[in-house]
Order: sequence, then structure tokens, then C-alpha cells
Amino acid sequence: MLDRFPADEYRSIVELRRDLHRHPELAFEESRTGALVAARLARLGAAVATGVGKTGVTADVGEGGARLLVRADMDALPLTEASGEEFSSEEAGRMHACGHDGHVAIALAAAGRLRRDPPARGLRFLFQPAEERGGGARACVADGVLDGVTAAIGLHLWNQLPVGKVGVFRGAMMAAVDEFEISVRGRGGHGAAPHETFDPIVAAARIVEALQTVVSREVSPLDSAVVTIASIHGGDAFNIIPSTVRLTGTARWFTEATGAAMPAKIGRIVSGTAAAAGVSAHLEYRRINRPVVNDPRVADVVIEAARRLLGEENVDTETRTLGGEDMSVYLDRVPGCFFFVGSAPEGPHRPHHSPEFAIDERALVVGTTLLEAAARDVAAAAFERA
Ligand SMILES: [Zn+2]
Ligand SMILES: [Zn+2]
Repeated sequence: MLDRFPADEYRSIVELRRDLHRHPELAFEESRTGALVAARLARLGAAVATGVGKTGVTADVGEGGARLLVRADMDALPLTEASGEEFSSEEAGRMHACGHDGHVAIALAAAGRLRRDPPARGLRFLFQPAEERGGGARACVADGVLDGVTAAIGLHLWNQLPVGKVGVFRGAMMAAVDEFEISVRGRGGHGAAPHETFDPIVAAARIVEALQTVVSREVSPLDSAVVTIASIHGGDAFNIIPSTVRLTGTARWFTEATGAAMPAKIGRIVSGTAAAAGVSAHLEYRRINRPVVNDPRVADVVIEAARRLLGEENVDTETRTLGGEDMSVYLDRVPGCFFFVGSAPEGPHRPHHSPEFAIDERALVVGTTLLEAAARDVAAAAFERA
């Protein structure tokens, strides 16, 4: 595939991706990116709408009303780039560290190809804002991007896989994202007189340890979930026991039963452990993203296209991650498929969301070719809403 792709088209996709990479924009601030996308789509002669979900852009391509949504996200992350690339971010504290610059370049290239040779059923390309902070997909749905749409597809560049490989799953492929905050309140005092206090630091330490048993003892070993405490803040002197400690964390899960029970399980352990230590604790629990659940029928169409283009051995149909994505907002409403396109560069691992993140740009070719083929095949299969 890589050697058959037109060299001038590859150069223009890379050039666009590097331009976006130099000018990353955070969630709901994608005005330069959105304007650039809208201009390119208008040049294709597509019916373009801007201001979708605040800063998003849509373009309808093909015959009749748009039936299949093809989604790409556009936002960057609040990081200072340290990738060493010559086209690094020119904005301090902002970086395309997830690959969304590549998603925009891929989707524009695929839109161009589909515009030149339109499929029988209409497509709607959506360039979505604010995936990272959440809220972008929901804002787009509120603005009607799913009106008339009966299926949805999208992709993510993926550094867990090398270039030339594709990962997908017939079912729950990415986990739900919940976040929580625990405030532990005790009685502060002198570091030398702990018996006169109720120490929230020792209590918080016990809570952190006890929460490890949610997954190890309370979730079925045949299911998958994660409970992570990601921050602890309390005290600021070596000889003062503080009166409060604040913990934040995230819970990830795939199945509805596990997700429904999670706040109660965490709450029971938090309050019971706090009571044992003579302190009080308060849990605030918020749902951020639902699991990304692929429809097996749509996934089969994508898998078939990927096998045809890349060879059976390069399509991993068991790819799952406890990472989350707001692609779930669409897939909760219409059947669809989200898939991963391998983009790991040579050398040491460059994880998503790290300042060292980088991709092998040949993944842009795989992404463009597969997105075009998947869009054609899924549109032709004419899935309907359940
Ligand atoms: Zn990300
Ligand atoms: Zn992402």
C-alpha cells in the first residue's frame, strides 16, 4: 500500500499535518484549524457548515442525504513539546500529543478522494472539537450532526501498534472514563503529638491501598476495570499534621454492571476506611465518557476492508484499551466502528499524551486509504439505527 500511494498526495498530507502540528489549539479553541479545514472542504465543492459544536466543521459528500458520519477530532493538549521534531509546536504549553493533527489531515485527504469518486450513499465528514477535555462530541450531537445519520466511523492513530498494522474489536473496545475526588477531613495538630490529632494523611494512605481491592476483589476476574489514584494533596510543613487531604483519580470499565456499581463500591471503601481512622471522607463521582462499543456488523465491514488493504496478518481484531474517547457519544446512538491505525515511530516508545509523542508519518497513508475504503464499504452496507 505504502509504495502504491501517489507521492505528491503523500507530500501534501504530510505538509498539512505538519502545519497543524506547528499550530496546535486546545479544546473549543480550534478556530485556525476549523477555518483551514472549512477552506479545504469548500475547495472540494462540498456543502460545508462551520461553528458546529462551537468550533467544529461538517461537510456532506456524495449522493442524497448524509447517512454515514465520518468523524475526526481536532484538538491538542496543554503540554510543552519535547519531541525534537523540526516542525514542533510554535505555541508554548500546547501540543498535538495525541495525533489529532494526523486525524484532520487523514480525514481531509479521504474526503477529497471520496468527493472525486462519490459513493452511492451520502457521507458527512465531521471535524470535531474538544475530544480531550470532553464535551466536543456532545456539543456536535446537540447541533444535529447525527440528523439523518444511521452509522458512524472514526479512527485513531495508535502508537501501541507499528505502521502497517490496524487494531479493532467487535464490541467494547475502549473503556468508560469516570473521575472522582475524595476529601478526607481529620483534625490537624503538631507532628510530634499525633495522639492529639485524627491524621488525614495516614487515613488517605489507607484509602489509596484499600481502593486497590475494588478491582482485585470486587470485579469479576473475567471483566476488566481500573481504579487509579492520580493525585494526593495534603499538608505543607514537615512538622504539622494537616486537617485535610484531597485525592483525585479515575475509574475505567467496559460492562454496564461494573460501571453501575463502581461509585457505591468506591464510596463504601472510602467511608469505611475513613471511619476506622476517625476521620470523615467525602466522595464526588463524575461520569466523563461512556465505553466505546463497536457494532460487530460494522466492525466486520471495517475488518474486511483492512484485511483486503493490509493483509490478514496485519489486522488485530483483539485490540482493546482502558483509555477512553468521546466517540462513544456517537456509537451510543448509531451503530458504528472506531479503529486504531498503527503509528509507532522507530526507536523508543513515544506514548500518547507525553511531550515526546511523535508518529511515523507513513501511518497517514494507511489511515487515508483505510478511512476511504471503510467509508465506501460501510456506506454501501446501509446500516440502520436499531
Ligand atoms: Zn488523547
Ligand atoms: Zn486522541
